[in-house]
Amino acid sequence: MRQSNATTDVLIAGAGIPGLTLALALARALKPGFAVTVCDPSLAAPPAADDRVSAITASARHMLETLGIWPKIEAEAQPVHEMVITDSKLSDTVRPTFLTFDEGERGDGPLAHIVEHRALAAALREAAVREGVELLPKPVEGFERAGESVSVSLGDRPLTAKLLVAADGARSKLRTQARISSVSADYKQLGIVATIGHEREHGGIATQHFLPAGTFATLPLTGRRSSIVWAEEAGEARRIVALPPEEFKKELVRRFGLKLGEIEVLSKVRAYPLSLSIARSFTSERLALLGDAAHVIHPLAGQGLNLGLRDAAALAEAITDAARLGLDPGGPEVLKRYQRWRRFDTVAMAGMTDGLNRLFSNNSDALRVLRDVGLGLVERAPRLKQFFTDEAAGTGGDTPKLMRGEAI
Ligand SMILES: Cc1cc2nc3c(=O)[nH]c(=O)nc-3n(C[C@H](O)[C@H](O)[C@H](O)COP(=O)(O)OP(=O)(O)OC[C@H]3O[C@@H](n4cnc5c(N)ncnc54)[C@H](O)[C@@H]3O)c2cc1C
Repeated sequence: MRQSNATTDVLIAGAGIPGLTLALALARALKPGFAVTVCDPSLAAPPAADDRVSAITASARHMLETLGIWPKIEAEAQPVHEMVITDSKLSDTVRPTFLTFDEGERGDGPLAHIVEHRALAAALREAAVREGVELLPKPVEGFERAGESVSVSLGDRPLTAKLLVAADGARSKLRTQARISSVSADYKQLGIVATIGHEREHGGIATQHFLPAGTFATLPLTGRRSSIVWAEEAGEARRIVALPPEEFKKELVRRFGLKLGEIEVLSKVRAYPLSLSIARSFTSERLALLGDAAHVIHPLAGQGLNLGLRDAAALAEAITDAARLGLDPGGPEVLKRYQRWRRFDTVAMAGMTDGLNRLFSNNSDALRVLRDVGLGLVERAPRLKQFFTDEAAGTGGDTPKLMRGEAI
């Protein structure tokens, strides 16, 4: 790790995946002569093995390919060839398929890849260091704007930057200090996450069971393993997580079924509170919010991290375009462009996941009939299906260059 400079061009607070991706994209596009610093106390140790996995959409994969990261993680990434959606009650013995998406419908390779968080974070850190990004294992404690720069306190010394990027997660201290409020709602659900092993091959099929209490998703991992992301009403989720292993397994089998043979739990079972939160603004003077600091959405569509990666691609492009013209990389034009580009897209995705969660997380038979008719219509209408597939793959809308596989 290098000694900290007293000034940098862009300081990113938070070495999560969106923060590191932004750092790498900027360093590759603007070196030499453009300094990028990332600070995060978690950089003092190797990335934690937190059992979290992410569905990397086709557009996010294009970005990781363009940044040279994909070959480092490809061997550990499980392609998703098909996605099966079901809608049933918990007590139903069969979970009939209502909608399927398969990779043949896109013609751009697998629908997504499932990657382990830790592997992606490790590859990004290594590449960032190689490209000259300065990594500091310290928290940002506060900041003050001073004319055309922002002075950031890192404990023992200040660091001055043209732009501070708050990539410090859902409970962002920097967002609070900037007095940016958020529109929030508590889903009163927990997301139960675990890795399970099964006797038979999953065949690269991901499933999303819409159950009245919440969604139960299985994401295929390499080998005979799958990750589950299981949303459940908060009280019931706490009860389930506290069950002895054999009882927990029975609850799991009620949802997962025995299609893949006997199953076993391979990891710790963790539960996270699920909420919806969108910052009222993604920028303020000399500051941009990135990733969960800007937005937290329901994990049912597996889009949380992909939104953060899209933020990184858009902000990297806005900063790079300005810096190449000799303009201020933290000036109002860059921030305005980023805000316009990302906020609408985020609100649309949050609305979609929130709407799906409300539509499916209930016991109403009338609503069940309506949504099953809706899903059936999508299944039979190729153009509508293409629309949903493109949205899920992140290839719809105003896609930043990196996400189209173009260098910036
Ligand atoms: C149950 C669950 C399942 C999910 N499943 C999926 C999925 O399948 N697909 C998907 O795409 N997304 C998924 N997500 C969402 C995804 O995990 C997040 O969107 C993503 O990890 C956010 O990255 P981030 O860097 O913004 O925040 P974080 O990962 O929270 O990282 C923030 C970083 O900031 C650091 N930090 C905090 N304070 C400071 C400070 N003051 N100074 C410097 N650094 C600081 C922290 O140490 C941390 O390293 C899921 C989320 C949950 C809860």
